[in-house]
Amino acid sequence: MAAEKRFKYVILGGGVAAVSALSTPTDFSRVRGEGVRQTGRQAGELAIISKEQVAPYERPALSKGYLFPHNAARLPGFHTCVGSAGERLLPEWYSDKGIELILSTEIVKADLASKTLASSDGATFTYETLLISTGSSVIKLTDFGVQGAEANNILYLRDIVDADKLVAAMQAKKDGKAVVVGGGYIGLELSAALKTNNFDVTMVYPEPWCMPRLFTAGLANFYEGYYANKGINIVKGTVAVGFDADANGDVTAVKLRNGTVLEADIVIVGVGGRPLINLFKGQVAEEKGGLKTDAFFETSVPGVFAIGDVAAFPLKLYNETRRVEHVDHARKSAEQAVKAIKAKESGESLADFYGDNVGDDVLFGDNDPTAAKPKFGTYWVKDGKVVGVFLEGGSAEENQAIAKVARAQPPVADVDALKTEGLDFAAKV
Ligand SMILES: Cc1cc2nc3c(=O)[nH]c(=O)nc-3n(C[C@H](O)[C@H](O)[C@H](O)COP(=O)(O)OP(=O)(O)OC[C@H]3O[C@@H](n4cnc5c(N)ncnc54)[C@H](O)[C@@H]3O)c2cc1C
Repeated sequence: MAAEKRFKYVILGGGVAAVSALSTPTDFSRVRGEGVRQTGRQAGELAIISKEQVAPYERPALSKGYLFPHNAARLPGFHTCVGSAGERLLPEWYSDKGIELILSTEIVKADLASKTLASSDGATFTYETLLISTGSSVIKLTDFGVQGAEANNILYLRDIVDADKLVAAMQAKKDGKAVVVGGGYIGLELSAALKTNNFDVTMVYPEPWCMPRLFTAGLANFYEGYYANKGINIVKGTVAVGFDADANGDVTAVKLRNGTVLEADIVIVGVGGRPLINLFKGQVAEEKGGLKTDAFFETSVPGVFAIGDVAAFPLKLYNETRRVEHVDHARKSAEQAVKAIKAKESGESLADFYGDNVGDDVLFGDNDPTAAKPKFGTYWVKDGKVVGVFLEGGSAEENQAIAKVARAQPPVADVDALKTEGLDFAAKV
């Protein structure tokens, strides 16, 4: 019979966001629970399930220190650190804390109704609260049926297995020719890494300049010039449409749409990623390609949170939903979700902010730090209208009311009256 393991909390994914849920100031690894040991928790309380073979590590190192020609970063040297103290989270750290680190385990089915996850090797895990932190997968040229894209040495970079393949290919094709497909940050970083490893590097991308989503033409001009001075060739305004391979199946050339053929011993493709949310299709609301959450990173299914790359969350400052693929966001979203879980368990509420914090600020409520239950907030008034609201200590209904205020932007005739009315003003909108 297949094994079943029960946990109070399961974090699905062993990447940057997952480990941040354990090492933020809120410290999920010491979240309240019966019988928690001084340094950790009871077995069966918290698990991280990851398909990777190794404990969580700093993913950005893979496109940087991991590829250095000398003194390259290797595990355990870049396992994730706890906060600013710098302690590396080695596997023993998890066991000392009573956290089950379940590695080499890919979840292939998630049933949110029965709170059950099933792995490819037949194990079943149940949870009370789930944090989804499955991150992103790379977009592959084989996904679009690009001719010859399955040849050997056409490589991608997302995890340490990919990075090891890249290192092996660089050793096998020493001092060879490399073509980098894609002009985003992966393309730029890997072109630099290959050049440092003495490859003859050509970058190819369709846009008029690199990193078009972030860089202006002027900014890109500097970086493209800098790369050219280092001897990196840049081919813009075209794409790879096919590949040639030798009798061993190793790539030998990249065919471009503009008719050019580039010789290649290694090809690295960095054309973007997509959030890994397939397991939850049809079970939870989606937006912007990710799992839609509220401001506390809880999805449309109560008790199921989404953090890191997969979360599509409301960015109230701009009144829109965003998905962000950055380490900093992975950390902050994990911290916010853990705070929300802890607050829910202890019946507390969290501070919330909606709209824009511009114009005159009008403080209301009881902000005495010694008060047993402080509840206070601020309205921001601009051009005679409320454009933003912050509330500390409010109930779910009160937070909904202030969210409505920020959306409606009601006019304010008398700022003093607004201060006195406080939350009553929001209730009337
Ligand atoms: C090479 C590279 C360099 C980067 N450099 C930077 C940088 O310099 N600065 C920056 O801000 N950001 C950088 N990023 C982006 C940053 O690493 C991500 O935004 C961040 O890792 C997101 O964290 P996450 O926890 O959401 O996902 P990840 O860190 O990707 O973790 C997801 C985890 O879930 C696991 N998983 C997925 N599906 C399953 C499943 N079904 N079963 C079990 N486990 C599963 C994965 O194996 C992985 O362990 C870089 C990314 C890459 C790939």
